[in-house]
Amino acid sequence: MPEAASLMDKVVSLCKRRGYVYPASEIYGGLNSCWDYGPLGVELKRRVKEAWWRSMVHDRDDVVGLDSAILQSPLVWKASGHIEGFTDPMVDCRACKHRFRADHVEGSRCPDCGGELTEPRKFNLMFKTFLGAVEDDASVVYLRPETAQGIFVNFLNVLASSRKRPPFGIAQIGKSFRNEITPGNFVFRTREFEQMEMEYFTPPEQATRWFEYWRKERFDWYARLGVRPERLRMRDHRKDELAHYARACTDVEYEFPFGWSELEGIADRGSFDLERHSEASGENLKVFVEETKTHYTPFVIEPAAGVDRAALTFLVDAYDEDVAQGETRVVLRFHPRLAPITVAILPLVKKEGMPEKAREIERELRRRFTTFYDESAAIGRRYRRQDEVGTPYCVTVDGETMKEDTVTLRERDSMAQERIPVRDLVGSVEGRIEGWRRAGARG
Ligand code: ATP
Repeated sequence: MPEAASLMDKVVSLCKRRGYVYPASEIYGGLNSCWDYGPLGVELKRRVKEAWWRSMVHDRDDVVGLDSAILQSPLVWKASGHIEGFTDPMVDCRACKHRFRADHVEGSRCPDCGGELTEPRKFNLMFKTFLGAVEDDASVVYLRPETAQGIFVNFLNVLASSRKRPPFGIAQIGKSFRNEITPGNFVFRTREFEQMEMEYFTPPEQATRWFEYWRKERFDWYARLGVRPERLRMRDHRKDELAHYARACTDVEYEFPFGWSELEGIADRGSFDLERHSEASGENLKVFVEETKTHYTPFVIEPAAGVDRAALTFLVDAYDEDVAQGETRVVLRFHPRLAPITVAILPLVKKEGMPEKAREIERELRRRFTTFYDESAAIGRRYRRQDEVGTPYCVTVDGETMKEDTVTLRERDSMAQERIPVRDLVGSVEGRIEGWRRAGARG
């Protein structure tokens, strides 16, 4: 495996070269820390979101979905405390004028030039814009800095329309915006990003139990999708680190080439959010208990993850190099459920009816999997290209296919090839996806 620093460079370069991630506005010189996802990157992100939605919503009966607007009334951000308190402490270097998050630098000297730093000042991270044609104070609105508040302000709507009662959750995936002081580390910290958040509303006496449940469940989700367990850990926040409203918080962290960093936070937010919105809006956000004829404000457990951070984790974690037939092979060992292309179909040569036969097989496979057809270059080169983008299976159509209706199915990780009747292909690929294990796959 490459050294940590070069690993990050290699991933960034592969992402650009193969169409995962490009610098935004590149033909105009780029825009600081903004990134565009290319044809393979968009597929990877979709799969990350699908895997999250499936495990958080579709595989259970106690969580429903929501897609709230990015623009909400400014009163929402006033009540939630974001206008007042969604700030990071910022320091400037008096010499080189570079700007840093005070909690990201040690001591009082600039990490870039050693110059003296100013005292920390509060910097609000919300982007402001104007709603409508008049640009005045009354028309100021904010781009949401998190998806969670859209969930809290719809609590009553969902309660009334879905017939759910606590314990139950509302899940949402969508873009959030934060004017980060120091974005960086590729897509790890950007100013526009996607979040996957779920607010789980529970009777207060069950909150601790659900907090424990969700921190384990969310940790396991990354491991189930193939992330190396030795690079994952849970970090419980100390009491003095907790946000003032949080009763407990655990971060799922991953060991990136730039160090252990947060992937996702799981917080027990108590009744803070619903109480704030209840007070500010005048709406009763309590739940009525039929048996005891009493009302209570639910507590909230929040697993909050980032799509881009998760995608970066899967990319970095999957990156591997090995030596095959005397050549260094770059391979992304994605879980087959995350790989942008599931099966590549490759006719051995561009003649003897092989391309037509391969196209016919592709049409069949396309109904079940994402496929990619490639007939250019030598077969070895085509395998390498698929390894490099993380395609778990390659199907090769050759002379025997034409005679016996069989193909070779090649596995990315072991490079093992097996001869399979065309009629068994779909079942065989499905079985392999089902049975995929990272440890087994890596031998
Ligand atoms: P940090 O301390 O890294 O700024 P945070 O604790 O403020 O993060 P949360 O508010 O808990 O982050 O957001 C939940 C998740 O959203 C994070 O774990 C991360 O995956 C994602 N996220 C937050 N900010 C960004 C960002 N600027 N770029 C990309 N993803 C982000």
